[in-house]
Amino acid sequence: MSGPIVIGLDLGGTFIRAGLFHSSGELHGVRQAYMPTRESVQKGLEQIAALVIELTQEHGSAHLTGIGIGATGPIDARRGCIQNPFTLPGWEDVPIVDWLQDRFDLPVLLENDADMAALGEYWQGAGMDVTRLAVVTVGTGIGTACILDGKIYRGLEGVHPEIGHHVIDPSGPLCYCGAKGCWEVLASGTAIARTAHELLQAYPSSILWSKTAGGLEQIHAHMVAEAAKEDDPLAVRVIEQAGRYFSLGLVNLINFFVPEMIVLGGSVMNSLSLFMPFIERTITRHNVMVPATRVRIIPAKLGIHAGLYGAAFCILQKLEMSRYELD
Ligand SMILES: [Zn+2]
Repeated sequence: MSGPIVIGLDLGGTFIRAGLFHSSGELHGVRQAYMPTRESVQKGLEQIAALVIELTQEHGSAHLTGIGIGATGPIDARRGCIQNPFTLPGWEDVPIVDWLQDRFDLPVLLENDADMAALGEYWQGAGMDVTRLAVVTVGTGIGTACILDGKIYRGLEGVHPEIGHHVIDPSGPLCYCGAKGCWEVLASGTAIARTAHELLQAYPSSILWSKTAGGLEQIHAHMVAEAAKEDDPLAVRVIEQAGRYFSLGLVNLINFFVPEMIVLGGSVMNSLSLFMPFIERTITRHNVMVPATRVRIIPAKLGIHAGLYGAAFCILQKLEMSRYELD
């Protein structure tokens, strides 16, 4: 392989993924391991380094020029620190960028994982070269990012805007963010599972009873979506409720940002066909102040690898910029 080789890392609450990329955008190898969050931060960092070493040894480390990291937030991108006691217990003020730079003697950068997934879809996915692109990732939570002219939009002090935590219904349930009825607590995969769990006693004939074999804690969003496709009344009700809340959040996003395109990813959006009728109806109804019906809404293309692509592209952007600074 000629040309720069970089590694993109995606750090989540459950998995660490690493991908080795050529600067042309080709993905040459992926490694995955469990995130040992319950053990120690040091063990987690060593696991990350081990994945980098495995990948580079397999493909030849001579041309490795940088490492980009997308991590579940909050993070401090400017200081290169993970600040996330919410989904990475113990990971508070962890200087992961300095640690990896010292370990590998390479440029390293850190960004929010939703931003990296969005940048990945811009670089090689569904939103290639779209000037104003929003990407919404619906899984355990709702991650949202905006890409303007190929760059991540950042707020004051470089902070990632938390659109997933904007309030839809102030009388709604309490979120860990401190707000009641934010988008994530009403329309994420966690919200779908929680609502199904809450309503199950009122639907004794729901097929979710047999799907969970009595272990109600096993209910998850994918199971509810599958049951809704079989017209299970409880599942249909839960998906309708989540669909309405999800659509309201999308309309708000369109009103704030008026993107050309919104790309929808994450495990819940594997059932996008269930949500599209609500999205189309809500957007048509709210198409007043901005050309909402002209915003293209399409599924993501890169799946679980979107964050790896974005992390790789982000470090390539940084390397390119520093090359210009040197010239
Ligand atoms: Zn919230």
